[in-house]
Amino acid sequence: MVKNKIWLRGKIVLESEAMVNILSPTSQFGLNVFEGIRCYWSYDKKNLYAICLNEHIDRLFESCKLIGIQPPYTKGKVIDYFKQIVIANNYKSDVAVRVTIFGDGIGSWHSTENFDMFIAPIEKQRTDINNLIGKTACISSWQRINDNIMPPRAKIGANYMNSRYAYLQAKRDGYDLPIFLGTDGKVAESSGACLFIVKKGKLITPETTSSILESITRNIIVEFAKIKGIEVEERKVDRTELYLADELFLAGTAAEITPITSVDKFNINNGNIGKITYELYKEYLDFVSGANKAFGHYLTKIIGR
Ligand code: PMP
Repeated sequence: MVKNKIWLRGKIVLESEAMVNILSPTSQFGLNVFEGIRCYWSYDKKNLYAICLNEHIDRLFESCKLIGIQPPYTKGKVIDYFKQIVIANNYKSDVAVRVTIFGDGIGSWHSTENFDMFIAPIEKQRTDINNLIGKTACISSWQRINDNIMPPRAKIGANYMNSRYAYLQAKRDGYDLPIFLGTDGKVAESSGACLFIVKKGKLITPETTSSILESITRNIIVEFAKIKGIEVEERKVDRTELYLADELFLAGTAAEITPITSVDKFNINNGNIGKITYELYKEYLDFVSGANKAFGHYLTKIIGR
């Protein structure tokens, strides 16, 4: 019996009772926009912090605009409901929260009315820095969707079917995950995270016009790098730059920092996780637990004093 409580259409219900119509546009066509937002529990202070809540809700509303959805609630209300449902679950651990605005009722892919929202917080632990595992990646033979087909800048449920083709292919071929090239032949991102190369002490990441989601974690890492005096290049990236990288990692709300230790069987850093990858993940964990005061404005305290 699932005990998680969900905010759905203005009510708090048990996950097992949170229902949508099978004929809804979200069920039939993946017509929904969503965000994955993490909350981290600080074990010393007993606080629960939501990470980049404002930034996520801004992106949610931008996705709505692109796909032609009038958000059913204001930004302020979404944030209020978010706090309300996370508190109602009373977790004393890390949490991953799905905020989804979806095509409700009976409708089709072109419906422009009848949208509502759910907010679903589920416990999900951070990856322990002592148990970081290097993943194997391949360049997918599937291409990333692009701005003139299905804009990857919008976080829309149906976009993830492109991710699915690539992810399942990578798994079938014995890799942990795929890396997409865009239709321009340049490196885009992975199926659910953005990507950074470390080369000669510099960070290199595909620019935001390289068929990627404008990742919030990516922006945080760029800020970390600037403060640490690490140079960052945001530009077009060739696939062979991945093979010749000193270090490589994915970044994202769910991925946190995920080291990649080979691409198409080219070993990166002799198959070991690199020093800068570790340093940045340590920085990230300090940030999410509220220890980095300079980044405190990205945290929203949900539980605690
Ligand atoms: N790209 C894709 C396709 C994603 O699904 C995600 C996860 N939201 C990211 C990048 C990383 O974005 P963020 O850092 O905002 O979670």
